[in-house]
Amino acid sequence: MRRSRAFIPTTKEAPSDATLPSHQFLVRGGFINQQGAGLYNFMPLGKIVLEKIRAIVKDELDKAGCNEVQLSFVTPIGLWDKSGRSETMGKEMLRISDRHDNDFVLSPTNEEAMVEMVKNRVTSYKDLPLNLYQINTKFRDEARPRYGLMRGREFLMKDGYSFHSSTEDMVREFNLMENTYKKIFTRLGLDFRVVEADSGAIGGEGSKEFHVLADSGEDTIVICDSCDYGANIEAIYDDEAKIDELNEKSYEELQELPITEKCSCGGKLSFKKGIEAGHIFQLGTKYSEALEANFNDENGRAKPFEMATFGIGVSRLVASVIEQNHDESGCIWTKATAPYIVNIMVSNIKDEMQMTLGEELYLKLLGDDIEVMFDDRKDRFGFKMKDAELIGFPYTVIIGKELENGIVQLYDRATKEKTSINTGDIYNKILELI
Ligand code: ATP
Ligand code: MG
Repeated sequence: MRRSRAFIPTTKEAPSDATLPSHQFLVRGGFINQQGAGLYNFMPLGKIVLEKIRAIVKDELDKAGCNEVQLSFVTPIGLWDKSGRSETMGKEMLRISDRHDNDFVLSPTNEEAMVEMVKNRVTSYKDLPLNLYQINTKFRDEARPRYGLMRGREFLMKDGYSFHSSTEDMVREFNLMENTYKKIFTRLGLDFRVVEADSGAIGGEGSKEFHVLADSGEDTIVICDSCDYGANIEAIYDDEAKIDELNEKSYEELQELPITEKCSCGGKLSFKKGIEAGHIFQLGTKYSEALEANFNDENGRAKPFEMATFGIGVSRLVASVIEQNHDESGCIWTKATAPYIVNIMVSNIKDEMQMTLGEELYLKLLGDDIEVMFDDRKDRFGFKMKDAELIGFPYTVIIGKELENGIVQLYDRATKEKTSINTGDIYNKILELI
C-alpha cells in the first residue's frame, strides 16, 4: 500500500477517557474510531489486524476438525425463552422489535441457536462428535463499556460449541481445544497462561481461561514460577470481598503481597494481572436438556447431547497484543499481527535516487506477497518517523541521505535500533527477518 493513498488518520491526541495504552494507541494510530459508547469502527489498519487474528483462529480450528458456520445475529426472543435466559441474562441482552412488534435479541452468545440448528439434524451417536464454530459479532449491553476494544458492547467473538455422546468424549474435545487455543495464542506471539476458572456448579477442571499477561489486565490470577499451573483468583477464593479487593490492586501493589501457599509442585506462587482473551467450558447437558435436543445411542435410546463451549475474544485480542507490546511512542505489533510487516520510508521524495530505490524495493516485496507499506508522502522525515513508531510496523527501511554512499538504514521497532545496510543487501535482509 502506498501511504499517500492509504486512509490512516493518525492523531496526536488520545480521547480523554482512554486510560489504557491499547485504547490510546489504537485510536491515535488510526486503527479504530469510536462510534458510540462501546461501539467501534475498524478503519483500514484495524481491519487488517482483526482479519489476521481471525485467519489464525480459523486456520487452527479447521485443522483441529471444527466446522465453521455463521448464525444470524438477530435472534427471536422465543429461542431465549426456551432456555430461560430471556429472564436470567438481564440487561446485558439487547432487545429490539420489528414492525409487527415481534421481539428479537442481538445475540450476546449462541448456545441456544447452535443447539437448535443441530437438533433434529443430528439424530444418531454415529454422527457425533461434532464441533461447530463461528466468528461473528456479539452484542452485550455492558454496564460499563470501557477500555476501548477490551470491553465493547458490540465486539467480535469466536464462539464454538461441541456435541458428544458421552462425558469422556466431551472431555477429550475440551483437551483438544485447550491445545488448539495454545497454538493460536502462541502463533499470535502472545505471552499467556491457561488458568483454572470459576466454573460455578460444574466445578473441577470444567472451565479454563486463557489470559494474556499484562499489568493493565482486569483480572487477577495466581501463577506458579516452576510449572504451568495457574488460576483465576475467582476460582480459588470464596470470599467475594477479598476477590474485589485483589482485583482493585494494581500490578505493582500485587507484587508486594506474599502468597504463603505453595504450588502442589513445590514451586512459588505469585500474583499477576491478566486479560481474559479466551474461555473454554464443559457445559454438560444444560442446553440440550432445556431445548430437548437428543440423539439415539447404540441401544436406540434417546439421550441429550453432552456439550462443551469455547470462546475467544477476537477484537479483544487486537487490544491485548498492544497492551502487552507497546512503549511510550506507540504500538509494537508481533510479526503475526502487524498490519504491514515492512514500511519503506523515503526521506525526501524530491530526491529521484531515493524515490527510485523506494519504488523498486516496494514493488519487489509486493511481488513476493509481503505486506509492505511505502511511505511516499511529502512530509518531513521526523513526522513520518513518529507516525511509523505510533503505528508500530515491525521494520522500517529508511532511504535517506546515506544513499549517496550506497547505504540505507533498517529500523527495528521493538528495539528502536538502526542498522546500516548496503542497498544491494536490503532485500535479502528483509526476507531473512520476516
Ligand atoms: P468478561 O468476564 O471479561 O466479561 P465473559 O466471561 O463475559 O468475559 P465469555 O462469555 O466467556 O466472556 O466470552 C468469551 C470471550 O469473549 C471472553 O473470553 C472475552 O475474550 C470476550 N469478551 C467477552 N465480553 C467482551 C466484551 N464486552 N468486549 C470484548 N470482548 C469480550
Ligand atoms: Mg462478561
